[in-house]
Amino acid sequence: MEIELWWLLALPAFFALGWGAARVDIRHVLSQSRALPSSYFRGLNHLLNEEPDRAIDAFIEVVKVDPETTELHFALGNLFRRRGEVERAIRMHSSLANRSDLDEGERLRALFELGQDYLRAGLLDRAEETLTKLAMTPFAARSRVFLLEIAQLEKNWSRAIDLARQVESDSGHSRQREIAQFHCEAAAGKLAQSLFDEARSDAAAALAVNRMAVRANLILGDVEARAGRHAEAITLWRAIESQDPAYLALAGARLIESHRAQGRVEEGLALLAGYLDRYPSLDLLELVFRLTMELQGVQAALRVVREEMRKSPSLAGAEWMLEAQAVDAPGERVSDLNQVRNLVHAQAQRMARYACENCDFKARQFFWRCPGCGSWESYSPRRIEEGDARF
Ligand SMILES: [Zn+2]
Repeated sequence: MEIELWWLLALPAFFALGWGAARVDIRHVLSQSRALPSSYFRGLNHLLNEEPDRAIDAFIEVVKVDPETTELHFALGNLFRRRGEVERAIRMHSSLANRSDLDEGERLRALFELGQDYLRAGLLDRAEETLTKLAMTPFAARSRVFLLEIAQLEKNWSRAIDLARQVESDSGHSRQREIAQFHCEAAAGKLAQSLFDEARSDAAAALAVNRMAVRANLILGDVEARAGRHAEAITLWRAIESQDPAYLALAGARLIESHRAQGRVEEGLALLAGYLDRYPSLDLLELVFRLTMELQGVQAALRVVREEMRKSPSLAGAEWMLEAQAVDAPGERVSDLNQVRNLVHAQAQRMARYACENCDFKARQFFWRCPGCGSWESYSPRRIEEGDARF
């Protein structure tokens, strides 16, 4: 293909135009930058060198010299909050919120930031008051997310349910799992006060929102068991298998007790042994091991642990093997076995942890809401043993 002559002429012209445009931009930036105090650039320089403390000092100087720099005020306020210097963040944002020269949008923005500062500082009443003021503003939807967090911290579950529904419609993302958890929190509170009917209706409300809410079945079963209706309790707990069988480990001890109360503890053992076979877990293994030891003796209990150790070796399993072997061992071996067992026990305790699938926070205790990241149902109900026990 032949290149036309005018193309060759046009190319340098395009370059010249581009160069000219760049010059115009640079000139604009230079004239802007001359208007900025030098401490602004010092601040930037410190930020780029990852010296946030010195950057903040420099920016504070800019703010003093030029109080009109609203964006810088906001940026500093948020930086303070992120660094946990909430008092400084509060000062920065409340001075913005009180400035009469700011337009309404900026003033509301300052209130929105201030509400978050109060929340971060743990001043829940003030946070709630500040964020509630934004109800009819463009910040309403974003404020509700924080108001929902506050309701959870205050354990005000009925308010949390209302807010979660609004947040759901604001965002279009389902909050059903959390709403069911809020109903369960309310139910657990009622159960603790022996308000059985109320606990039952809250747990039923959880299931109406999320029929897979295992926790609701656990609580409903607890209500029945507390009233002596063990057959009903067992039916409710067994239903967890069709919701999420991993959670059967949490129902294991309850199932044994209700079977025992009915004089059918062998049936309870058979049920749990079946669960252990299908859904292996350390907690189920321990329950089956101890009940087998009680009902069928030490050799049967040893067989249970050996079988599990063959499938999935664990320190906890090793500990229970040593425990069982010490039962029939001759006198002089008992103290040896116990010594080793104590060592294994200490290590197994340290290593067996529940872990959050969202942030990997580990704990000895099972949580429905992660204390690390605040996620609901992010803890696997299966304890795991791991080499790197950080807690
Ligand atoms: Zn977490």
